[in-house]
Amino acid sequence: MKQYDCVIIGAGVAGMTSAIYCKRAGISVLLLEKGVPGGQINKTSTIENYPGFKQIDGPTLAMNMIDQIQSLEIPYQYGNVTSIEIQGEDKIIHTDMGDIQAKRIIVASGRKPRELGLPNEKALVGGGVSYCAYCDGMLYKDQDVAIVGGGNSALEEALYLANICKNVYLIHRREEYRADQILVDKIKKYDNIKPCLNQEVIEILEQNNKVCGVRLKDQSVLNVTGIFIYVGQIPETSFIENLLTLDQGYIVTNEHLETEIPGIYACGDVLKKELYQISTAIGEGALAGTNVVKSLK
Ligand code: NAP
Repeated sequence: MKQYDCVIIGAGVAGMTSAIYCKRAGISVLLLEKGVPGGQINKTSTIENYPGFKQIDGPTLAMNMIDQIQSLEIPYQYGNVTSIEIQGEDKIIHTDMGDIQAKRIIVASGRKPRELGLPNEKALVGGGVSYCAYCDGMLYKDQDVAIVGGGNSALEEALYLANICKNVYLIHRREEYRADQILVDKIKKYDNIKPCLNQEVIEILEQNNKVCGVRLKDQSVLNVTGIFIYVGQIPETSFIENLLTLDQGYIVTNEHLETEIPGIYACGDVLKKELYQISTAIGEGALAGTNVVKSLK
């Protein structure tokens, strides 16, 4: 079994930052990831509030960080963590690719999109239902689409789709958006973004396994070919739920970002916290990495 001073679960911006701090401090570190390195920012079309970049797209920012990880020769491995076992001071990480032993763990597993929970939603993924406008938007060029949600993600991606699609129906269940004012102001400037406020999608209409419309709670129908769902996110903590006391699925830590189990730290969107931003994830990644190093020396 391979052994490391620190294994970081999740190679999003928080995990990659922790890895940089651990590696530069001279401890042996492994970055474990079950998806694409970069995590959620790979699905973000435009970032305008990360200092140093007036505007940058998510995949480019992710690529810049991955370059840095590679130039530091930080070991990176695919692996889906299924559970963690405590053996004295050591921890055994069980993954679908085998077990790994670590003195310390940093959980940076982030969050995944929340589903709307409509009956045919899952079956229509790839047939018109999407959780990533940046990945799938071009498939709907010059077509009518719907975005569901009223947070920063929904509004940002509505702006992205407005430049590609014919009309973008922005369906939000309340009168007020839960997004930054700058985004609320921007969407008003697009004639082809059509806000549908105080509305909910009650049915996804389909024909030949493809989306052909959505029915709203007032029974009106929008004839869209794509529906992009941005109704929040849920933390990826199922592999650790029997080990830690979670708060609505989120990990709680002390101010050093250490959990109730000594030697297990957490950072990024998986934390219970006030602000979910790239800048906060990076700050927490740096702090978790630094505290792991301190605890080992
Ligand atoms: P969010 O802020 O939690 O917003 C989710 C939206 O979906 C809310 O408007 C919510 O409505 C709505 N919603 C939830 N469940 C629903 C349902 N079942 N049916 C219909 N609508 C539903 O999620 P997010 O936009 O993904 O953002 C997540 C976090 O990342 C936030 O903290 C956000 O600020 C941050 N973020 C920041 C940026 C940025 O700074 N540029 C970009 C993206 C994300 P209600 O308002 O009625 O609850």
